[in-house]
Amino acid sequence: MIRVGVNGYGTIGKRVADAVEAQPDMEIIGVAKTQPNFEAHTAVKRGYPMYAAIPERAPLFAEAGIEVAGEVDELVAEADIIVDCTPSGIGEQNRELYETHHTPAIFQGGESADVADVSFNARSNFDAARDADYVRVVSCNTTGLSRVIAPLEEEYGVEKVRATLVRRGGDPGQNSRGPINDILPNPIKVPSHHGPDVKTIFPDLEIDTLGLKVPATLMHVHALNVTLGDDVTGAHVRQLLEDEDRIYVIPEGLGIDGAGKLKDLALDAGRPRGDLWENCVWGESIGVNGRDLYLFQAIHQESDVIPENVDAIRAMFDLEDKETSMQRTDRQLGVGI
Ligand code: NAD
Repeated sequence: MIRVGVNGYGTIGKRVADAVEAQPDMEIIGVAKTQPNFEAHTAVKRGYPMYAAIPERAPLFAEAGIEVAGEVDELVAEADIIVDCTPSGIGEQNRELYETHHTPAIFQGGESADVADVSFNARSNFDAARDADYVRVVSCNTTGLSRVIAPLEEEYGVEKVRATLVRRGGDPGQNSRGPINDILPNPIKVPSHHGPDVKTIFPDLEIDTLGLKVPATLMHVHALNVTLGDDVTGAHVRQLLEDEDRIYVIPEGLGIDGAGKLKDLALDAGRPRGDLWENCVWGESIGVNGRDLYLFQAIHQESDVIPENVDAIRAMFDLEDKETSMQRTDRQLGVGI
């Protein structure tokens, strides 16, 4: 049983904790937080021991009626691995703490790639994380792109990817983010930094990306154009993507015309937090012109990286092969619509 600590129990951390706890071969031994907000109370209700991420703030937890099991140092010392889910840039500062205790760690996509030895996406490079001490699970957008590129690359070869990322302005709780009434080329400079991030998974890939930000919190939407190595048919590509467990090809006729209805689908299905761990590719959008493939996909930024964190743990401890790990993760979480 791998003993896992989560440092930073926010949007990603709380989901990672529940996903780890759902697995038969790993358990949560504690979570660390900076403040006793509503998520801290959620952790207590879930039975996760609470550690103070900033020791001087420990009394605030006691005042809020939350028993503190110790300081983050103790959690790091006790854990077999820490999944660092702190805000972008903090993970890098935490690396020294993990090194001091010789505790392996997983970082998230907000960190720069050099925070870790390996950037990780289970479908694309599971084995690269075998026995690594520090691994970065790539961002929600890079995860979404990698899951599509990997099977296309294996089946047809990929000559060039061009992707426009229409990004949500913020997560639902991030009420200071925006825009609230605008459409922003973001970053304005093209191509955007997203392409180079995908190259941390596929170093030889030709990829250009453009980004926009829009007043929405639900999901990101990608418009993809992939020039493949071979002439293909839309039907063949569709079958290829339908065979991927972490891709949901949205059937025609369901009336799912946007991210809002996808979120409704997840809530109707009783998914925890309305999560959509899968890339959601509109089947109707899969279009082919010679070697050029086009499609639209929606990516639930808060949850697509969650199964990847679980698989990264198995890879780092050499517990399972890629297929077994991914299948086990998916079965325990309920991935697959
Ligand atoms: P978040 O702000 O929702 O949660 C971060 C948590 O860490 C908060 O609970 C915060 O109080 C806590 N924290 C702050 N400073 C800390 C410290 N020094 N020690 C311990 N905890 C601390 O952030 P998030 O959205 O969960 O993002 C976490 C990471 O995941 C980032 O690298 C982000 O880029 C990445 N990520 C986020 C999303 C997303 O859509 N939210 C998607 C993929 C990857």
